Amino acid sequence: MRSITLRNILVFVLALIIVGAALSTVTVGTKPPQTLGIGELVSEITAGNITAVDIRENKLTATRKDGTTVVSYKEPTESLPTLLRAYDLSPERLRELNIAVKQESGAMAWLAVLLPFLIPLLLLASFIYFMARQVQGANNRAMTFGQSGAREVQKNQKGRTTFKDVAGVREAKEELHEVVEFLKSPKKFTAVGAKIPKGVLLMGSPGTGKTLLARAVAGEANVPFFHISGSEFVEMFVGVGAARVRDLFSRAKKNAPCILFIDEIDAVGRQRGSGLGGSHDEREQTLNQILVEMDGFDPNAGVIVMAATNRPDVLDPALLRPGRFDRRVILDEPTMDDREAILQIHTRGKPLEREVSLRRLAERTPGFSGADLANLLNEGAILAARRGKKTIGMAELLESVEKVMLGPERKSRILSPEERRITAYHEAGHALVAHELTHADPVHKISIISRGHALGYTLKLPTEDRNLRSKGDFIDDLAIALGGYTAEREIFGDNELTTGASNDLRQATKVARRIITEYGMSDALGPRTFGAHSEMIFLGREITEQRDYSEKVAEAIDAEITKLTNAAMKTAQGIIRRERARMEEIVRILLTKETIEQEEFESLFTSHPHQMRAPREPIAPVAPAAREPRQKMRPAPQAA
Ligand code: ADP
Ligand code: MG
Ligand code: ZN
Repeated sequence: MRSITLRNILVFVLALIIVGAALSTVTVGTKPPQTLGIGELVSEITAGNITAVDIRENKLTATRKDGTTVVSYKEPTESLPTLLRAYDLSPERLRELNIAVKQESGAMAWLAVLLPFLIPLLLLASFIYFMARQVQGANNRAMTFGQSGAREVQKNQKGRTTFKDVAGVREAKEELHEVVEFLKSPKKFTAVGAKIPKGVLLMGSPGTGKTLLARAVAGEANVPFFHISGSEFVEMFVGVGAARVRDLFSRAKKNAPCILFIDEIDAVGRQRGSGLGGSHDEREQTLNQILVEMDGFDPNAGVIVMAATNRPDVLDPALLRPGRFDRRVILDEPTMDDREAILQIHTRGKPLEREVSLRRLAERTPGFSGADLANLLNEGAILAARRGKKTIGMAELLESVEKVMLGPERKSRILSPEERRITAYHEAGHALVAHELTHADPVHKISIISRGHALGYTLKLPTEDRNLRSKGDFIDDLAIALGGYTAEREIFGDNELTTGASNDLRQATKVARRIITEYGMSDALGPRTFGAHSEMIFLGREITEQRDYSEKVAEAIDAEITKLTNAAMKTAQGIIRRERARMEEIVRILLTKETIEQEEFESLFTSHPHQMRAPREPIAPVAPAAREPRQKMRPAPQAA
């Protein structure tokens, strides 16, 4: 229905203008003859100037001796001879005058009368006709409401995705090889009494290739692939989702063996009875229908239901019961080798310069998902094209890394000289503290060019992929996060503190809170977690934290957070005071060149021989500390 409105109205207005313009040219084209009053006409006739008069209704067209015509008007009821006699025209003159009374030709007369009404009427009629057609289209759509609308990829289709298009995720691929086997030769398994799995659940962070892998399974097994997203089940009307599920499964069963893929299943598969929103009734019905359908079909029918989610924790337990999605495949975030392989896949069809090292790119992109990497190469290609190059160089790709990580450069944001100075000191503070602390990642770049929301940034990248982080890491993170704030304070004084550090402060507070409440790393509060994570949807937002501790403990947590952040500021302060000369050097370079790369930054420290480590309290070994393998370890860029 969207198309009716603006476009059609525009078309009609345009048509009206064209018709109007055409009509006006018809009358404007010929020059209108001179118009005389009756008195003037009579005197011309008396003078013998006029040879003939044509009468058409009340319009008199008189022809002069020289051939020109003049126009005059009379009352419609009055006949011309009577009129002329009333003006005392002599009968002889009247007889000489050639008077012709003309009738409008029939059709023309009718048209002249009707046309002004007919044109708008026609336009109106066609407008109504188009409207009616649109509405009918909507009606037709309403009839197909219960159909699933799943997209289908036929078997044997050209250019199908296969495992070759998926890099990394080795365990997941191995696991899914089995599924491919089931689909290719089910007899082999049923002969020995094995049941073919009905459901496979792919779990992994966004962009790790869940959708891609599901396609690849269908491609490898060369079976049809039905693809629908969980959110497509949910419509305004209750019951539609369930109808779509029924339709989808019956379509799949007709096409067995095949894969039925429900993407983002958490949209319908959330735990039942936990929602407050209005749509949850509908979701429950849809989910129930999925459960019923999955139980209903013969395990050897050859339909394998795959589903993907990045929130396995919110799924309804009924979905995960044996006989439903009992196979769970985890897609890990890519390691450095995986990242190189993914980059390799996505450089197909992109002309790279010889100097480009995908290995170096992989090193520079910890925490990037497959989708981020694909995006990075695309951005690089766009940048190369914009620069009028035929090939993509390392410079473009490195720039794209930062763009994907931090957002686009904002050259238009002009900082005043004073703001530039403050930003330079702020970033120098982050970088200096990061360099001096043992647990920190190496500084790759410092910049005072605005990017995304940040006025400047200090880019630190880990040297290797890490799954575990220690208390020492977090303590150092805190000091680095506060490095910018502390530098501003040291250089410009308390009164000159700016708002630019608020993001850092929030980040630091969050880290401190997690040290205490999630990782049990605080001596004062002991080895337990605080706050229960529960799933509740209220007005579309998740309220994930629920207090499971007393008011007194809340105070203790607050006090501990303050202690940690104050200690971190002390650490940063010590480093900045000690390395003040280096800080001035960093700021000087930043103000002239805007960015400092890793090599130059490192060389600042080798030029002065004394290199001291920051004095830090020894930290008790916290061996298997924060075990959080699926947490994104994206290096948090420090925003000014
Ligand atoms: P998800 O469904 O997990 O959110 P997708 O499968 O939609 O992620 O991935 C998005 C895109 O990222 C893919 O189309 C592909 O181009 C790229 N991608 C992600 N993971 C990989 C991978 N392991 N190998 C190759 N490309 C990948
Ligand atoms: Mg997906
Ligand atoms: Zn900062």
